[in-house]
Amino acid sequence: MSLEGFEVAVVGAGPAGSAAALTLAREGVQVLLVERGSFPGSKNVFGGRIYSYALKRLFGERWKEAPIERFVRKEGITFLKNDSAFSIEYEATDPTLSFTAIRAKFDKWLGEQAEKAGASLINDARVDDLLIDKGQVRGIVAGQDKIPTDAVIACDGTTTGLARKAGLVTMQEPQTISMGMKDVIELPSETIEERFGLDSGEGAANVFVGSPTDGGKIENSSEDQAFHQEREDHRVRCPYDSRGGPKNVETPLYGRNAGSR
Ligand SMILES: Cc1cc2nc3c(=O)[nH]c(=O)nc-3n(C[C@H](O)[C@H](O)[C@H](O)COP(=O)(O)OP(=O)(O)OC[C@H]3O[C@@H](n4cnc5c(N)ncnc54)[C@H](O)[C@@H]3O)c2cc1C
Repeated sequence: MSLEGFEVAVVGAGPAGSAAALTLAREGVQVLLVERGSFPGSKNVFGGRIYSYALKRLFGERWKEAPIERFVRKEGITFLKNDSAFSIEYEATDPTLSFTAIRAKFDKWLGEQAEKAGASLINDARVDDLLIDKGQVRGIVAGQDKIPTDAVIACDGTTTGLARKAGLVTMQEPQTISMGMKDVIELPSETIEERFGLDSGEGAANVFVGSPTDGGKIENSSEDQAFHQEREDHRVRCPYDSRGGPKNVETPLYGRNAGSR
């Protein structure tokens, strides 16, 4: 593919990047969509649920062609303390308002829609830098390739290395970032429906609030000193340390010299 003649480079083919590329391509703009993963969604994780209103705006009635796992009918909220819990459950008035999805499928599909609209997608291409001339962004640098464009849209995720390179944002402070873990358990459809009391194609979502989510918050104590010292090395103890969790676990931070996510 020739890398010349693009008006806009969109960096990152997550939901934001593919939606931006699709919208521009529909308007006839020459768009290059650049993704560092082997395909859109290959590197992306999230909680698992998408609200459909934005898709409806992009696709109208066609939004249901998206790779939907289940429409969320059952909603739950659980309030947790360390040693007790309280849950409430209710039903969505319109289950099509949100659905569960797998990013490897969903982002891939959205990227394909951007391509169908006329955007050019390249995978396995990490944008390392911006072309900047007299204070203006003039394109992107991906490996050996310098690709001039009129505009660049940085959709490279919440820590956005590109917007930082452009001087538009600064790195978030480590105290404002939490680490998360995700475990996916595959079960036959009937087992899921039986366990959660659902009909075929229906889904359930549960939000947990309380003791597990006070994350990296560390009181102003001697441990606080240790925390700041370690921050200087761009490494911090696992947040659970302060509550007697696993010791001696170190977690790389996003930050200066910490590399990309
Ligand atoms: C723990 C957690 C749970 C969440 N759960 C939900 C949920 O259930 N539902 C929901 O709607 N939202 C959820 N979110 C939010 C959701 O993940 C984000 O809003 C969404 O992913 C943002 O999309 P994005 O396209 O801006 O960025 P991303 O999805 O982060 O995509 C960025 C893309 O850019 C690519 N990229 C990055 N750097 C470069 C580079 N230099 N060159 C080329 N490509 C690059 C990445 O590979 C990636 O594909 C959750 C977030 C977190 C942290």
